[in-house]
Amino acid sequence: MDSDYAGIVDAIREIQQITKEQLQYILETEGKENEEYLFRAARDVADRVFGKAVYLRGLVEFTNYCKNDCYYCGIRCSNQNAERYRLSEEEILSCCDMGADLGFRTFVLQGGEDPYFTDERICRIVEKIKAGHPDCAVTLSIGEKSYESYRRYYEAGADRYLLRHETADNEHYCMLHPATLSGENRKRCLYDLKKIGFQVGCGIMVGSPYQTIDHIHEDFVFMQDLRPHMIGIGPFIAHKDTPFKDKANGSVDRTLRILALLRLIFPQVLLPATTALGTADPMGREKGILAGANVLMPNLSPSAVRGKYLLYDGKICTGEEAAECNVCLKRRVERIGYYVPESRGDHPDFAKSDAKTDAKTDEKMDVKTDVKTDA
Ligand code: SF4
Repeated sequence: MDSDYAGIVDAIREIQQITKEQLQYILETEGKENEEYLFRAARDVADRVFGKAVYLRGLVEFTNYCKNDCYYCGIRCSNQNAERYRLSEEEILSCCDMGADLGFRTFVLQGGEDPYFTDERICRIVEKIKAGHPDCAVTLSIGEKSYESYRRYYEAGADRYLLRHETADNEHYCMLHPATLSGENRKRCLYDLKKIGFQVGCGIMVGSPYQTIDHIHEDFVFMQDLRPHMIGIGPFIAHKDTPFKDKANGSVDRTLRILALLRLIFPQVLLPATTALGTADPMGREKGILAGANVLMPNLSPSAVRGKYLLYDGKICTGEEAAECNVCLKRRVERIGYYVPESRGDHPDFAKSDAKTDAKTDEKMDVKTDVKTDA
Protein backbone atom coordinates (compact mmCIF):
# COMPACT_ATOMS: atom_id res chain seq x y z
CA MET A 1 0.00 0.00 0.00
CA ASP A 2 1.42 3.36 -1.06
CA SER A 3 1.09 5.70 1.93
CA ASP A 4 1.43 8.76 -0.32
CA TYR A 5 -1.57 7.55 -2.29
CA ALA A 6 -3.66 7.03 0.83
CA GLY A 7 -2.58 10.40 2.18
CA ILE A 8 -3.67 12.15 -1.00
CA VAL A 9 -7.03 10.36 -1.00
CA ASP A 10 -7.55 11.38 2.63
CA ALA A 11 -6.61 14.99 1.89
CA ILE A 12 -8.98 15.19 -1.08
CA ARG A 13 -11.80 13.79 1.02
CA GLU A 14 -11.04 16.22 3.80
CA ILE A 15 -10.89 19.45 1.80
CA GLN A 16 -13.02 18.38 -1.17
CA GLN A 17 -10.63 19.85 -3.68
CA ILE A 18 -7.90 18.45 -5.90
CA THR A 19 -4.73 19.92 -7.38
CA LYS A 20 -3.46 19.01 -10.82
CA GLU A 21 -0.54 17.14 -9.27
CA GLN A 22 -2.82 15.14 -6.99
CA LEU A 23 -5.08 14.30 -9.92
CA GLN A 24 -2.15 13.05 -11.97
CA TYR A 25 -0.86 10.98 -9.07
CA ILE A 26 -4.26 9.41 -8.38
CA LEU A 27 -4.91 8.61 -12.03
CA GLU A 28 -1.47 7.40 -13.01
CA THR A 29 -0.15 5.53 -9.99
CA GLU A 30 -0.71 1.83 -10.45
CA GLY A 31 -1.54 -0.75 -7.82
CA LYS A 32 -4.68 -2.65 -6.92
CA GLU A 33 -4.41 -1.73 -3.24
CA ASN A 34 -4.20 1.97 -4.02
CA GLU A 35 -7.22 1.74 -6.23
CA GLU A 36 -9.14 -0.24 -3.66
CA TYR A 37 -8.35 2.38 -1.00
CA LEU A 38 -9.68 5.12 -3.27
CA PHE A 39 -12.84 3.21 -4.14
CA ARG A 40 -13.51 2.27 -0.54
CA ALA A 41 -13.18 5.89 0.57
CA ALA A 42 -15.61 7.01 -2.15
CA ARG A 43 -18.07 4.27 -1.29
CA ASP A 44 -17.91 5.20 2.34
CA VAL A 45 -18.80 8.82 1.50
CA ALA A 46 -21.70 7.70 -0.72
CA ASP A 47 -22.98 5.33 1.96
CA ARG A 48 -22.94 8.10 4.57
CA VAL A 49 -25.00 10.41 2.37
CA PHE A 50 -27.32 7.97 0.56
CA GLY A 51 -27.09 4.76 2.57
CA LYS A 52 -27.19 1.71 0.32
CA ALA A 53 -29.73 3.24 -2.06
CA VAL A 54 -29.15 3.19 -5.81
CA TYR A 55 -31.71 5.22 -7.74
CA LEU A 56 -33.10 4.13 -11.08
CA ARG A 57 -34.01 6.60 -13.81
CA GLY A 58 -36.18 5.42 -16.67
CA LEU A 59 -34.63 6.64 -19.89
CA VAL A 60 -36.86 7.43 -22.86
CA GLU A 61 -34.78 8.09 -25.97
CA PHE A 62 -37.52 9.77 -27.91
CA THR A 63 -35.73 11.07 -31.03
CA ASN A 64 -32.43 10.34 -32.70
CA TYR A 65 -32.71 13.25 -35.11
CA CYS A 66 -30.14 15.92 -34.36
CA LYS A 67 -29.21 19.14 -36.12
CA ASN A 68 -25.68 19.02 -34.73
CA ASP A 69 -22.62 17.22 -35.98
CA CYS A 70 -20.47 16.45 -32.94
CA TYR A 71 -17.43 14.50 -34.11
CA TYR A 72 -17.85 11.65 -31.61
CA CYS A 73 -21.58 11.00 -31.88
CA GLY A 74 -23.29 8.22 -33.78
CA ILE A 75 -26.49 10.20 -34.36
CA ARG A 76 -24.72 13.32 -35.68
CA CYS A 77 -26.64 14.86 -38.57
CA SER A 78 -24.15 13.85 -41.23
CA ASN A 79 -24.26 10.14 -40.38
CA GLN A 80 -26.28 8.81 -43.32
CA ASN A 81 -26.23 5.30 -41.85
CA ALA A 82 -28.23 6.22 -38.77
CA GLU A 83 -31.80 4.97 -39.05
CA ARG A 84 -33.80 7.93 -37.77
CA TYR A 85 -36.92 7.75 -35.61
CA ARG A 86 -39.14 9.91 -33.45
CA LEU A 87 -41.53 8.63 -30.83
CA SER A 88 -45.01 10.13 -30.90
CA GLU A 89 -46.38 11.93 -27.86
CA GLU A 90 -48.56 8.89 -27.14
CA GLU A 91 -45.56 6.55 -27.32
CA ILE A 92 -43.56 8.73 -24.94
CA LEU A 93 -46.44 8.86 -22.47
CA SER A 94 -46.99 5.14 -22.66
CA CYS A 95 -43.27 4.51 -21.91
CA CYS A 96 -43.71 6.60 -18.77
CA ASP A 97 -46.92 4.80 -17.79
CA MET A 98 -45.17 1.48 -18.13
CA GLY A 99 -42.17 2.82 -16.20
CA ALA A 100 -44.40 4.02 -13.37
CA ASP A 101 -45.97 0.55 -13.18
CA LEU A 102 -42.48 -0.93 -12.91
CA GLY A 103 -41.71 1.37 -9.98
CA PHE A 104 -39.76 4.17 -11.66
CA ARG A 105 -40.18 7.62 -10.13
CA THR A 106 -37.96 9.54 -12.55
CA PHE A 107 -38.26 9.71 -16.32
CA VAL A 108 -35.44 11.06 -18.41
CA LEU A 109 -36.52 12.32 -21.82
CA GLN A 110 -33.42 12.27 -23.95
CA GLY A 111 -32.97 13.14 -27.59
CA GLY A 112 -30.83 14.83 -30.16
CA GLU A 113 -31.42 18.51 -30.85
CA ASP A 114 -34.45 17.86 -33.02
CA PRO A 115 -36.27 20.99 -34.26
CA TYR A 116 -39.48 18.97 -34.66
CA PHE A 117 -39.78 18.98 -30.88
CA THR A 118 -40.60 22.65 -30.43
CA ASP A 119 -40.90 24.19 -26.99
CA GLU A 120 -44.68 23.83 -27.25
CA ARG A 121 -44.41 20.10 -27.92
CA ILE A 122 -41.87 19.55 -25.14
CA CYS A 123 -43.95 21.54 -22.64
CA ARG A 124 -47.09 19.65 -23.54
CA ILE A 125 -45.36 16.29 -23.06
CA VAL A 126 -43.88 17.37 -19.71
CA GLU A 127 -47.25 18.67 -18.51
CA LYS A 128 -48.97 15.42 -19.46
CA ILE A 129 -46.36 13.26 -17.73
CA LYS A 130 -46.61 15.35 -14.58
CA ALA A 131 -50.40 15.28 -14.68
CA GLY A 132 -50.41 11.48 -15.00
CA HIS A 133 -47.59 10.92 -12.51
CA PRO A 134 -47.43 13.80 -10.03
CA ASP A 135 -45.12 11.81 -7.75
CA CYS A 136 -42.50 11.41 -10.48
CA ALA A 137 -39.63 13.67 -11.52
CA VAL A 138 -39.09 14.58 -15.16
CA THR A 139 -35.57 15.11 -16.42
CA LEU A 140 -34.91 16.62 -19.82
CA SER A 141 -31.77 15.96 -21.82
CA ILE A 142 -32.36 17.73 -25.11
CA GLY A 143 -29.36 19.96 -25.55
CA GLU A 144 -28.60 23.64 -25.83
CA LYS A 145 -31.55 26.04 -25.73
CA SER A 146 -32.23 29.66 -24.87
CA TYR A 147 -32.86 30.85 -21.31
CA GLU A 148 -36.47 31.44 -22.27
CA SER A 149 -36.93 27.87 -23.53
CA TYR A 150 -35.42 26.43 -20.37
CA ARG A 151 -37.69 28.64 -18.30
CA ARG A 152 -40.74 27.37 -20.18
CA TYR A 153 -39.74 23.73 -19.61
CA TYR A 154 -39.32 24.43 -15.92
CA GLU A 155 -42.69 26.10 -15.67
CA ALA A 156 -44.24 23.16 -17.48
CA GLY A 157 -43.01 21.00 -14.61
CA ALA A 158 -39.60 19.64 -15.63
CA ASP A 159 -37.49 19.08 -12.53
CA ARG A 160 -34.02 18.30 -13.80
CA TYR A 161 -31.86 18.87 -16.86
CA LEU A 162 -28.85 16.91 -18.06
CA LEU A 163 -26.35 18.60 -20.34
CA ARG A 164 -22.87 17.17 -20.35
CA HIS A 165 -20.38 19.97 -20.74
CA GLU A 166 -18.05 17.43 -22.47
CA THR A 167 -14.94 19.43 -21.60
CA ALA A 168 -14.48 22.70 -19.72
CA ASP A 169 -11.52 23.65 -21.89
CA ASN A 170 -12.71 25.75 -24.82
CA GLU A 171 -9.89 24.69 -27.14
CA HIS A 172 -10.48 21.04 -26.38
CA TYR A 173 -14.18 21.65 -26.96
CA CYS A 174 -13.37 22.88 -30.48
CA MET A 175 -11.49 19.66 -31.19
CA LEU A 176 -14.61 17.61 -30.43
CA HIS A 177 -17.25 19.81 -32.07
CA PRO A 178 -17.84 21.73 -35.29
CA ALA A 179 -17.46 25.51 -35.30
CA THR A 180 -21.22 26.01 -34.90
CA LEU A 181 -20.91 24.91 -31.26
CA SER A 182 -18.88 26.51 -28.50
CA GLY A 183 -17.78 25.62 -25.01
CA GLU A 184 -18.85 29.08 -23.84
CA ASN A 185 -22.44 28.54 -24.91
CA ARG A 186 -22.50 25.09 -23.38
CA LYS A 187 -21.43 26.50 -20.05
CA ARG A 188 -23.87 29.41 -20.39
CA CYS A 189 -26.68 26.87 -20.72
CA LEU A 190 -25.64 25.11 -17.52
CA TYR A 191 -25.50 28.32 -15.50
CA ASP A 192 -28.89 29.37 -16.93
CA LEU A 193 -30.43 26.05 -15.93
CA LYS A 194 -29.04 26.36 -12.44
CA LYS A 195 -30.34 29.91 -12.10
CA ILE A 196 -33.84 28.88 -13.21
CA GLY A 197 -33.95 26.26 -10.47
CA PHE A 198 -33.42 22.92 -12.19
CA GLN A 199 -31.43 20.13 -10.63
CA VAL A 200 -28.61 20.29 -13.14
CA GLY A 201 -26.34 17.59 -14.49
CA CYS A 202 -23.10 18.08 -16.41
CA GLY A 203 -20.39 15.59 -17.33
CA ILE A 204 -17.60 14.43 -19.59
CA MET A 205 -16.40 11.47 -21.63
CA VAL A 206 -13.30 10.01 -20.04
CA GLY A 207 -10.57 9.46 -22.61
CA SER A 208 -12.19 11.59 -25.30
CA PRO A 209 -9.77 12.32 -28.14
CA TYR A 210 -7.00 14.79 -27.20
CA GLN A 211 -8.03 14.84 -23.53
CA THR A 212 -5.16 15.54 -21.11
CA ILE A 213 -4.81 15.59 -17.33
CA ASP A 214 -4.90 19.39 -17.55
CA HIS A 215 -8.30 19.19 -19.23
CA ILE A 216 -9.68 16.85 -16.59
CA HIS A 217 -8.41 19.15 -13.90
CA GLU A 218 -10.13 22.08 -15.61
CA ASP A 219 -13.31 19.99 -15.52
CA PHE A 220 -12.99 19.64 -11.77
CA VAL A 221 -12.42 23.38 -11.37
CA PHE A 222 -15.41 24.16 -13.56
CA MET A 223 -17.65 21.74 -11.67
CA GLN A 224 -16.58 23.23 -8.36
CA ASP A 225 -17.80 26.56 -9.61
CA LEU A 226 -21.04 25.23 -11.14
CA ARG A 227 -21.82 22.88 -8.22
CA PRO A 228 -23.99 20.54 -10.31
CA HIS A 229 -26.53 18.21 -8.70
CA MET A 230 -25.68 15.34 -11.06
CA ILE A 231 -22.51 14.41 -12.93
CA GLY A 232 -22.59 11.90 -15.76
CA ILE A 233 -19.31 10.42 -16.88
CA GLY A 234 -18.49 7.38 -18.95
CA PRO A 235 -15.58 6.20 -21.04
CA PHE A 236 -15.36 7.52 -24.58
CA ILE A 237 -16.36 4.73 -26.98
CA ALA A 238 -15.76 5.28 -30.68
CA HIS A 239 -18.63 4.99 -33.17
CA LYS A 240 -17.80 3.51 -36.56
CA ASP A 241 -19.60 6.19 -38.59
CA THR A 242 -17.91 9.24 -37.09
CA PRO A 243 -14.66 11.14 -37.69
CA PHE A 244 -13.38 9.58 -34.45
CA LYS A 245 -13.97 6.01 -35.57
CA ASP A 246 -10.28 5.12 -35.25
CA LYS A 247 -9.65 6.85 -31.95
CA ALA A 248 -8.81 4.74 -28.90
CA ASN A 249 -11.59 4.10 -26.41
CA GLY A 250 -11.38 5.59 -22.93
CA SER A 251 -10.23 3.41 -20.06
CA VAL A 252 -12.63 1.82 -17.58
CA ASP A 253 -10.03 2.05 -14.85
CA ARG A 254 -9.58 5.80 -15.31
CA THR A 255 -13.35 6.30 -15.44
CA LEU A 256 -13.76 4.49 -12.13
CA ARG A 257 -11.01 6.52 -10.50
CA ILE A 258 -12.60 9.78 -11.70
CA LEU A 259 -15.99 8.60 -10.44
CA ALA A 260 -14.45 7.98 -7.03
CA LEU A 261 -12.79 11.40 -7.01
CA LEU A 262 -16.08 13.04 -7.92
CA ARG A 263 -17.74 11.33 -4.98
CA LEU A 264 -15.01 12.53 -2.61
CA ILE A 265 -15.22 16.11 -3.85
CA PHE A 266 -19.02 16.28 -4.31
CA PRO A 267 -20.41 14.03 -1.55
CA GLN A 268 -24.06 14.79 -2.28
CA VAL A 269 -23.95 14.60 -6.04
CA LEU A 270 -26.09 12.11 -7.98
CA LEU A 271 -23.59 10.04 -9.89
CA PRO A 272 -24.66 7.47 -12.48
CA ALA A 273 -22.78 4.31 -13.30
CA THR A 274 -23.44 4.88 -16.98
CA THR A 275 -24.47 2.54 -19.77
CA ALA A 276 -21.18 3.40 -21.50
CA LEU A 277 -19.35 2.04 -18.45
CA GLY A 278 -21.47 -1.12 -18.66
CA THR A 279 -20.68 -1.35 -22.36
CA ALA A 280 -16.92 -1.02 -21.87
CA ASP A 281 -16.91 -3.65 -19.10
CA PRO A 282 -19.64 -6.25 -18.45
CA MET A 283 -19.34 -5.49 -14.72
CA GLY A 284 -18.81 -1.77 -15.26
CA ARG A 285 -22.01 -0.65 -13.59
CA GLU A 286 -21.36 -2.71 -10.47
CA LYS A 287 -17.79 -1.44 -10.37
CA GLY A 288 -19.12 2.10 -10.74
CA ILE A 289 -21.40 1.72 -7.72
CA LEU A 290 -18.56 0.24 -5.74
CA ALA A 291 -16.50 3.31 -6.68
CA GLY A 292 -19.11 5.76 -5.38
CA ALA A 293 -21.86 5.94 -8.05
CA ASN A 294 -25.49 5.82 -6.89
CA VAL A 295 -27.67 6.04 -10.01
CA LEU A 296 -28.49 3.71 -12.90
CA MET A 297 -30.40 4.69 -16.03
CA PRO A 298 -32.12 1.72 -17.63
CA ASN A 299 -33.91 2.14 -20.91
CA LEU A 300 -37.70 2.49 -21.12
CA SER A 301 -37.75 3.15 -24.87
CA PRO A 302 -39.73 0.67 -26.98
CA SER A 303 -37.42 -2.21 -27.92
CA ALA A 304 -38.09 -1.58 -31.63
CA VAL A 305 -36.13 1.69 -31.52
CA ARG A 306 -33.47 0.94 -28.94
CA GLY A 307 -30.93 -0.32 -31.42
CA LYS A 308 -31.24 2.99 -33.30
CA TYR A 309 -30.17 5.33 -30.52
CA LEU A 310 -26.50 4.56 -30.82
CA LEU A 311 -24.21 7.36 -29.74
CA TYR A 312 -21.33 4.86 -29.66
CA ASP A 313 -20.67 1.28 -30.80
CA GLY A 314 -21.63 -1.88 -28.92
CA LYS A 315 -24.21 -0.30 -26.59
CA ILE A 316 -25.68 -2.85 -24.17
CA CYS A 317 -29.34 -3.54 -23.32
CA THR A 318 -30.68 -2.70 -26.78
CA GLY A 319 -32.60 -5.98 -27.11
CA GLU A 320 -34.36 -6.46 -23.80
CA GLU A 321 -37.79 -5.28 -22.76
CA ALA A 322 -37.94 -2.59 -20.07
CA ALA A 323 -39.35 -5.01 -17.51
CA GLU A 324 -36.46 -7.42 -18.09
CA CYS A 325 -33.90 -4.62 -17.71
CA ASN A 326 -35.53 -3.54 -14.51
CA VAL A 327 -35.41 -6.99 -12.93
CA CYS A 328 -31.87 -7.59 -14.15
CA LEU A 329 -30.57 -4.30 -12.77
CA LYS A 330 -32.26 -4.68 -9.41
CA ARG A 331 -30.66 -8.10 -9.07
CA ARG A 332 -27.27 -6.77 -10.01
CA VAL A 333 -27.56 -3.99 -7.44
CA GLU A 334 -28.66 -6.38 -4.70
CA ARG A 335 -25.86 -8.79 -5.46
CA ILE A 336 -23.33 -6.15 -4.41
CA GLY A 337 -25.16 -5.20 -1.21
CA TYR A 338 -27.23 -2.23 -2.40
CA TYR A 339 -30.97 -1.79 -3.04
CA VAL A 340 -33.28 0.17 -5.34
CA PRO A 341 -35.82 2.35 -3.50
CA GLU A 342 -39.04 3.33 -5.19
CA SER A 343 -38.43 7.06 -4.91
CA ARG A 344 -37.59 10.08 -7.01
CA GLY A 345 -34.06 10.16 -5.68
CA ASP A 346 -33.66 13.93 -5.64
CA HIS A 347 -30.44 15.67 -4.78
CA PRO A 348 -30.37 16.06 -0.97
CA ASP A 349 -30.83 19.85 -1.20
CA PHE A 350 -34.08 19.33 -3.09
CA ALA A 351 -35.24 16.32 -1.14
CA LYS A 352 -35.20 18.34 2.09
CA SER A 353 -37.61 21.04 1.04
CA ASP A 354 -38.89 19.65 -2.25
CA ALA A 355 -39.11 23.32 -3.21
CA LYS A 356 -38.56 23.75 -6.91
CA THR A 357 -37.57 27.35 -6.41
CA ASP A 358 -34.90 26.43 -3.94
CA ALA A 359 -31.81 26.27 -6.14
CA LYS A 360 -29.38 26.09 -3.26
CA THR A 361 -25.81 25.11 -3.93
CA ASP A 362 -24.30 21.82 -2.96
CA GLU A 363 -22.80 23.04 0.25
CA LYS A 364 -19.68 21.48 1.52
CA MET A 365 -20.57 18.61 3.79
CA ASP A 366 -18.60 17.32 6.66
CA VAL A 367 -18.18 13.69 5.69
CA LYS A 368 -14.93 12.86 7.38
CA THR A 369 -14.55 9.14 7.23
CA ASP A 370 -12.43 6.59 8.89
CA VAL A 371 -11.36 4.33 6.08
CA LYS A 372 -8.50 2.17 7.18
CA THR A 373 -5.62 1.23 4.92
CA ASP A 374 -4.85 -2.33 4.01
CA ALA A 375 -1.33 -1.88 5.26
S1 SF4 B 1 -23.78 14.66 -29.04
FE1 SF4 B 1 -25.88 15.44 -28.82
S2 SF4 B 1 -25.86 17.41 -29.91
FE2 SF4 B 1 -24.04 16.29 -30.59
S3 SF4 B 1 -24.69 15.23 -32.46
FE3 SF4 B 1 -25.00 13.79 -30.74
S4 SF4 B 1 -27.12 14.06 -30.09
FE4 SF4 B 1 -26.55 15.83 -31.36
